[in-house]
Amino acid sequence: MRFKCQAGCVTCCQQKGFVYLTEEDIVRAAAFLGMSAADFERKFVYRTTNLRRLRTPRDAQCGFLRPDGCSIHPAKPTQCRIFPFWPELVEDRKEWEKTGEWCPGIGKGELVQIEAAFKCLKSELGIRPIYHQLEHRVEAHILVAFLAYCLTVTLKHRLQAHAPGLTPRAVLEKLAAIQTLDVWLPTTDGRYLVMPRYTEPEAELALLLHQLKITLPKQPQPRLVAAPAGATPQLKM
Ligand code: SF4
Ligand code: SF4
Repeated sequence: MRFKCQAGCVTCCQQKGFVYLTEEDIVRAAAFLGMSAADFERKFVYRTTNLRRLRTPRDAQCGFLRPDGCSIHPAKPTQCRIFPFWPELVEDRKEWEKTGEWCPGIGKGELVQIEAAFKCLKSELGIRPIYHQLEHRVEAHILVAFLAYCLTVTLKHRLQAHAPGLTPRAVLEKLAAIQTLDVWLPTTDGRYLVMPRYTEPEAELALLLHQLKITLPKQPQPRLVAAPAGATPQLKM
């Protein structure tokens, strides 16, 4: 997907909807305006048990919007800063294209492979925005998405240098063949020897790793643990 915000455009700030806030958003915007967080909240924030959002004035979508743009631009809320890279947009091509009907930045600029990063890494972790009710989970979601994006971009650059022609997604699909598992071996004294192991890559995958100059870490050291409750060791000597 391509995106480049267009100078002078304020269309996203004029859309119907609410601007939700994190506690940090409130502190940052208040400091920018030279007021206390409590005063900022009294004046600009509508708070419910779990959520905070900017109050919406009668005559506009956002009270901070001026003809020349956002009047708190350097301290604008996270939701505004990360638009249009909202999970519900980057994970759904139709929604992304629908947003592109009014956001002139969509479809312009450099190719951003954030969608792949969101899909392949975040979905595996099972933390999707629909499950988030708590602020720390929302922030964790943004952090993981950002890390996923950084990893994908790093991989893309490495591929350009060492294996042009391969995409990050194709490489991640190949790397998925490497699995990790714990081998539990009962010992004569009733405990278990646990050996965490990753599967050795096949020849083709080993060649790809070599080409990308990626060295897998050593197999982790085994460890001795007490038998889990209810386990019946099979080893008899
Ligand atoms: S509508 Fe799109 S291009 Fe316009 S300001 Fe918002 S993000 Fe930028
Ligand atoms: S806070 Fe600023 S960026 Fe966010 S909607 Fe309002 S004017 Fe736009």
